[in-house]
Amino acid sequence: MAASDLINLSGLIDDAKCFALVRQHRWPEGVRCPACDSGAVIRDGCDDTQPCRQRYRCKACSGRFDDLTGTVLAGHHQPLRVWVLCLYFMGLNLSNRQIALELGLDGSDVQIMTEHLRRGLVAKIPEVTLEDEVEINEVYVVVGHKGQPAAVAKRGGLDGAAGWQARRDAARWKRRNYRSLA
Ligand SMILES: [Zn+2]
Repeated sequence: MAASDLINLSGLIDDAKCFALVRQHRWPEGVRCPACDSGAVIRDGCDDTQPCRQRYRCKACSGRFDDLTGTVLAGHHQPLRVWVLCLYFMGLNLSNRQIALELGLDGSDVQIMTEHLRRGLVAKIPEVTLEDEVEINEVYVVVGHKGQPAAVAKRGGLDGAAGWQARRDAARWKRRNYRSLA
């Protein structure tokens, strides 16, 4: 029998403390605007449905954001306290399956959560979101060097291939991430 059958652990966790934890991790030196990095930020009320989720307004760029904006924790269905518990269980080396049992979640949901959390509690989500079908058409073919073999080898041969590989890997990562967010 899972512990969740006896105790609803997430119901015992204090939301305010969870948001304080995120703030402390994210902005140990004080809140900064995620758009322009200015520290000239004022509080701007709280989220309508999550009263512990602080909203802010940047005086430099007039941007609005909150505690979770731009983090892996934003835009997910799970409340923050479930994320925090998931992180705690990961620290105890529980498997995704065990965590799912404890939290009463699907194993696939937990797998997505732990993948995100391994990149950091407030790791940035990718700025570019790609559609499900992504074609990478950028292929560099070096056809000749026109008397400048050194330059071609440098630009097209080595850097070009390595750069393409890096871009392809980045696109694959983004695509994977987009799928997991969808
Ligand atoms: Zn700003």
